[in-house]
Amino acid sequence: MKKGCRLKYLVFLIGIITFWIIGFEVKADEPLVIVIDPGHGGENLGGQYEEYTEKEINPIVARAMKEELEKYEGVTVYLTHEEDVDMSIKDRAAFAKEKNADFLFCLHFNMSVKHDLFGAEVWVPAAGEFYSKGYAFAEIQMQEFTDLGLYSRGIKTRLNDKDQNYYGILRYCTQEGIPSVLIEHCHLDHASDQPFYQNDEEKLKEFGRLDATAVAKYFRLKSEELGVDYSNYPVSEIKIPSGIVRPDETEPELCRIEVDAVNEETGEAAVTIKARDADSYILYYSYSVNGGNSYSDLQIWPRPEAWNRSQEENKVTIPLPFDQGIELRVCVYNGFDKWSESNIVNIEPIADPQRLADELEKAQEEAMKKKQESYEEIVYEDVKEPKLSPIPVLVAVICLLLCMVLISFILAGRIALLLKSKKRR
Ligand SMILES: [Zn+2]
Repeated sequence: MKKGCRLKYLVFLIGIITFWIIGFEVKADEPLVIVIDPGHGGENLGGQYEEYTEKEINPIVARAMKEELEKYEGVTVYLTHEEDVDMSIKDRAAFAKEKNADFLFCLHFNMSVKHDLFGAEVWVPAAGEFYSKGYAFAEIQMQEFTDLGLYSRGIKTRLNDKDQNYYGILRYCTQEGIPSVLIEHCHLDHASDQPFYQNDEEKLKEFGRLDATAVAKYFRLKSEELGVDYSNYPVSEIKIPSGIVRPDETEPELCRIEVDAVNEETGEAAVTIKARDADSYILYYSYSVNGGNSYSDLQIWPRPEAWNRSQEENKVTIPLPFDQGIELRVCVYNGFDKWSESNIVNIEPIADPQRLADELEKAQEEAMKKKQESYEEIVYEDVKEPKLSPIPVLVAVICLLLCMVLISFILAGRIALLLKSKKRR
């Protein structure tokens, strides 16, 4: 290589390195762009329960989330809509694209058809890096939810009949190349979740701050104002899946019960439930005392290792009704609301201890009452109505009659003697 040529090559190389460093610096200084999408708006009310409507409460959470997130350095935050307007899902994704968003967070509250479900869930795109990023964020979000006391319904994918993301916002954001998640904070229509959002707007704002904290942790942000630094926060490395990550479409494969003991006094049965779902995890169980005709409210299932790994054996106490034959059965639900019913265990009627005690008390009262009555009768007979026995009366009457007959004879004898003596004279 000639000397001039070598110099040109060196200048070119230095130029490239300088450009790369400057370019990197510029990129590093570029603010993080977060788009928050408050679900629903305008004519689209979303879920409605009592005086709570999603299109009204989602923006309260979204504004609190934005306000909190803006306290972190190097982040620009937008809401897809500030006003109560109808905005198509496609337009929301397009808005995020226009703002060059690094991530879109779509905020919702949930409701269930039978008003039986409770807990928080995060829906993530089903494929590629969108799945990995969504999932890694959702893990942090779910930790925040469970720390708050909410029950985790999981981090899930959902597909439509074309095998695309079921939720439009995830579908369109993926098409626009923007990572996204849909957060269902809790269920409006379930008593277990109502304390987390009702009666105080501050609770909704707390949800917003919680969402912001999850974002700050995921993007390893720091805030001088809040005095927090998440620079080293451990965000999971989620492997990019090769294909579509499908929701679990099959029921739990194991659901069996054994009755360990029945407490005749309390009417409670100690039951061991064994349940397993190899594809996902067990989320809830419910029990039936009439062979599955009707079931109890859903109960939480222990998942001590991680929210997506359920314990196989669950020892529970089930209250049984008294004075009736019982056909005990259990139903378990996986994280995708697919369910399996157990075998039936027959239990003989258990006598209601309260009823037995009441009956005993009543019998004792009645016996006491009878005793009292007979005592009163005896006293009454002795004091008020001294009765004569018929036999002595009869004997007395006969004696009296005999006496009268005897006297009559004597008198008749005397009269006859008198008459005789008069005739002699
Ligand atoms: Zn909604």
